[in-house]
Amino acid sequence: MTVFSKIVAGEIPSYKVAEDDRYHAFLDINPLRKGHTLVIPKQETDYIFDLDDETIAGLQIFAKRVAKAIKAAIPCRKVGQAVLGLEVPHAHIHLVPLTTEGDMDFSHKIDAPEPAEMQRIADEIAKNFE
Ligand code: AMP
Repeated sequence: MTVFSKIVAGEIPSYKVAEDDRYHAFLDINPLRKGHTLVIPKQETDYIFDLDDETIAGLQIFAKRVAKAIKAAIPCRKVGQAVLGLEVPHAHIHLVPLTTEGDMDFSHKIDAPEPAEMQRIADEIAKNFE
């Protein structure tokens, strides 16, 4: 079981942003910016481009809804999207609120906000999820 499947199962804690029967979104624990969110399929597949067409399309559509919620909740110019997958072998999309290009630099993470602040951010995004 991947660490992300454990999050879906509630076996390890996370700051949940949105969920349906097939997809799940939660805050990145080590964010690039406040509001940095990961969107995953519940189906456990390592490499995003190994997902079947229907699942990857659904993942992108779910991520679009999450991105709109982030944009409504966090001051930013746009929400950027990236896929790396070098660390956790469970397909995921990174959504990051952007003000400048440098906000998407994965070698420069911010200090994670305090748990109460992470929860507040997750709740704010969740409130705007449609
Ligand atoms: P990558 O697989 O290279 O796309 O990176 C995995 C991302 O998952 C990193 O940005 C980590 O900070 C994040 N991450 C790892 N474990 C957790 C966790 N338990 N909860 C939330 N985010 C996590």
